[in-house]
Amino acid sequence: MNSSLPVRDRLGRPLESLRLSVTDRCNLRCLYCMPEEDYIWLPREELLSFEELARLVEIFTGLGVSRVRLTGGEPLLRQNLDRLVALLAQNSRVEDLALTTNGILFSDQADALKRAGLGRVTISLDTLRPARFRQMTRRDEHHRVLSAFDAARRAGFTGTKADAVIVRGENDDEIADLIEFGRANGAEVRFIEYMDVLGATKWSMAKVVSRSEILQHLERRYGKITPAGEASSAPATRFLLPDGTVFGIIASTTAPFCRTCDRSRITADGFWYRCLYATDGTDLRKLVRGGAGSSSASRASADADADAEIARVIEEAWRGREDRGAEERAAGSRREAFIRIEELRRDPHLEMHTRGG
Ligand code: SAM
Repeated sequence: MNSSLPVRDRLGRPLESLRLSVTDRCNLRCLYCMPEEDYIWLPREELLSFEELARLVEIFTGLGVSRVRLTGGEPLLRQNLDRLVALLAQNSRVEDLALTTNGILFSDQADALKRAGLGRVTISLDTLRPARFRQMTRRDEHHRVLSAFDAARRAGFTGTKADAVIVRGENDDEIADLIEFGRANGAEVRFIEYMDVLGATKWSMAKVVSRSEILQHLERRYGKITPAGEASSAPATRFLLPDGTVFGIIASTTAPFCRTCDRSRITADGFWYRCLYATDGTDLRKLVRGGAGSSSASRASADADADAEIARVIEEAWRGREDRGAEERAAGSRREAFIRIEELRRDPHLEMHTRGG
C-alpha cells in the first residue's frame, strides 16, 4: 500500500473504517433509536445499488479503508444482501467485513452470508425477556433474536458480539444476565451507553447508565474487574471478569473517544458523513451517477475519471475533518435530545437508522 495511506484528517485520525447503511428501513421500533410512529423513508430509486456501493468501497479502500461494516436500518431487510457481501469480499483491501443486525432475519441467511465471505457479525440484544423485548422494540420476535446466536455458531462465525444499549429503568437490571447469555452462547457482550444521537428523540441524561455504573454493577456480582489494557480505535473499551470472561463498554456518552475515531458512514442513498453527529454530509451518489458516456468505451473512461474525482473529493474532505461530535456534546452544559422531531421529519439523513449505527 502507498505509504501515505491511510489518508489522515487534521487530528491525525486515519480513514480506516467505513459503515455502509444499506437501508434506512427497520423491522423494530427500539425506544432509543426509532421511537416515533412514522418516519420519512428514503425514496427507493435513490438507494445505491450493490454495484454502486462496491464501487464506492473500492474508492475508499484506495484511500486506506480496510474495515467495512454493513448496517442500517436493518441491513438484512435489503434483499439478497449476500450478493453485496460477495462483491465486497472480492476487494482484497477489505481486511475486516462485518455486519450489525438485530438478528431477526439472520438465521435464514447465516449460511449464505458466511459462504459469500462475511467475516464477523454483531447482533443487537438488549434484553433476555420476551415481554420486555416487546416493550422496548414494539415487535414480538424475541425468539428469533436469541436463535441468531446459535445460527451464527452453526454457520461457522467466530468473534460474534452481542451489543446491548442499557437504558435506565428499561433493562439496567439485566447487565449480569446478558454477560451470562454471552458466555453460554460464545458471544462477547458489549454494553453501549444510551446516546443522544439523531433519532433518539426520547433521550435524557437521566436514562443514561454510565460505564462506571455498569462496572460497579458487575463488580458487585463477579468481583474485581480489570481493564484488558489494549490500545485500539475500536469504540469499546474491553474488560476482564475474574474468570477471564471478556466484555466491552462503549462509553460514547460519558467518555467519548473522538480522538481515535477512524469511522465514517455512507447512507443508503450515498451521503457520506464523517461524524455520527454531523449535520452535513457529502453527496457521493450524485458523483457516482453523474457523467457516464454513451458507448461502453467512453462509459468506462468516464467512470475511471469519475472515480478519480470521487477519490479527490473524499480525500480532501477527510484531510479537512475536525469533527469531534460526541466530545462537543459531552462538553455542552444542557443536554437534551440532539435533534427535534420536526427537524428529523424535514431531513431523514439526520436519523440514526438512516445513517447507520
Ligand atoms: N438494525 C441493526 C441493529 O439493530 O443492530 C443495525 C443498525 S442499529 C442503528 C446499530 C446499533 O446502533 C445497534 O446496536 C443499536 O442498538 C445502536 N443504537 C441505536 N440507537 C442508539 C442510541 N440512541 N444509543 C446507543 N446506541 C444506539
